Amino acid sequence: TAEWQSVPLAPPDSIFQLTAAYKEDTFEKKINLGVGAYRDDNSKPWVLPVVKEATRILLNDETLDHEYLPITGLPEFTAAAAKLILGADSPAIADGRVSSVQTISGTGANHLGALFFSRFYQWGPSEKQVFLSNPTWANHQAIFKNVGIPPVDYPYYDPKTVGLNFDGFVESLKSAPERSVFLLHACAHNPTGVDPTPEQWAIVADVMLEKQHFAFLDCAYQGFASGDLDNDARAVRYFVQKGVSLLICQSFAKNAGLYGERVGALHIVSTSKEAAARVKSQLSVLQRSEISNPPSHGARIVSLILNSPDLFEMWKRDIATMAHRIIDMRKELFRLLTEELHTPGNWDHIVKQIGMFSFTGITPKQSKALIDEHHIYLTGNGRISMAGLNTHNIQYFAASLDSVVR
Ligand code: PMP
Repeated sequence: TAEWQSVPLAPPDSIFQLTAAYKEDTFEKKINLGVGAYRDDNSKPWVLPVVKEATRILLNDETLDHEYLPITGLPEFTAAAAKLILGADSPAIADGRVSSVQTISGTGANHLGALFFSRFYQWGPSEKQVFLSNPTWANHQAIFKNVGIPPVDYPYYDPKTVGLNFDGFVESLKSAPERSVFLLHACAHNPTGVDPTPEQWAIVADVMLEKQHFAFLDCAYQGFASGDLDNDARAVRYFVQKGVSLLICQSFAKNAGLYGERVGALHIVSTSKEAAARVKSQLSVLQRSEISNPPSHGARIVSLILNSPDLFEMWKRDIATMAHRIIDMRKELFRLLTEELHTPGNWDHIVKQIGMFSFTGITPKQSKALIDEHHIYLTGNGRISMAGLNTHNIQYFAASLDSVVR
C-alpha cells in the first residue's frame, strides 16, 4: 500500500552507532569511550552491592504484589527523593511547597516538566522558548521541541579554555527577556564536564532573581560528580534558599546504576502550599494521559535504600567507589599526558572537569583518527566517558591521544 510513503528514514542514534562499530571491531585493545554508563575496572557494568541487597529484601517480601502504583508514584519514594536533592531539613519541604511526581527516569522528568511548561507557564514578556546551554545533552532539544517549546542556545563552553564561558553565560541571562526559562545542569554538565564554581552559581542565582527567570534544573548525576550527595546538590539547595523559581529533574540511573529500571522524579517548588497542591493536581492529570502509572520495581529499590539508614550508608559507599574511580582515572590520564608523555598542549581541564564526561578539546579530525587508527571510540565533539577508562587501558589511551595531537 501507499501508507507511510512520505515518512523519511531517520538517521540512527549516533551513540548507538558508535557502540555498534565498537562491537564489530576485533582489535584486542579497542576502547569504548562513547557510552554514558559506569563501567568497573574490568570494563564491566556494575550492579551496586546496595542494589543487590535491596533486591534480595524485596524478593523475600511476601506482602508485595504487582498492583498499580498511584498515578504520581510510590509516595515513600517521591518523599525520600525530594529530601535527597533538597536536603532533609529543607524549608520548602517543611512548608509543603514541593510537588513531587515519580517519572520514567530523568528523561521522563524532563519531558513531564517540559509538558507542564507548555501548558501552564505564564511566559510574560518572554516568548515560548527555553534556553539551553551550548552544548547540552542532545535529548534536551528533542524533548522541548516535542512539546512545542523551541530551544534557543546560551553560551556555555569556551573552546579556547576548554572551560566555562562565564561572561557569555551571564550576559545571556541578563539580555534574555524577563521570566525566561533556563535549563541548567545541576552538577556534572553533560557533555562538557564543566561546572560553574559556587561563586559563579551565586552570581547566576542573583541575575536569575533580578530577571525573574525560571531555573529548569536537570540533575542526572547527584553523588556521581564528587562522590558526595550533599556536595553535588549544593547549587540546587542554594537556588531554593535564595528563592529562585525552579523545578528539578532527578534521575537514579547513574548514581544507583539503575539505568534500565527508569527511576526518576520531577519536583516543582512553589511559593505556597496551595500553589503546590494545584501544580501536583495538574501533573497528575498529565501523567495519567501519558503513562497512567509509573513502574514499581526500581522505585521500590530506591525507596528501600533511601528510607533505611543502613542501606543508605552502604549506597553512599558505593557512590564514592564509582566517583573516586572516575576521579582517579582523571588524575592518572593527566599524569600520563603531562609527566610521562609530555604531550603538547595544556591538559589541566582533564582534572578540573567533573563527572563521567570530559571534553578533551581535541578536533573532530583528531577524534576520527582515534577511531580509525587506534580503535578508540568517542563522539566527534571530542567527548570521552571517563568510565570507559581503567587501569588496564589508560596507558594505551594516553599514548594514542598523544600520537593524534602531535
Ligand atoms: N539529563 C542529562 C543531562 C543526562 O546526561 C541524562 C543521562 N544521559 C539524563 C538527563 C537522563 O537519563 P535517564 O533518562 O537515563 O535518567
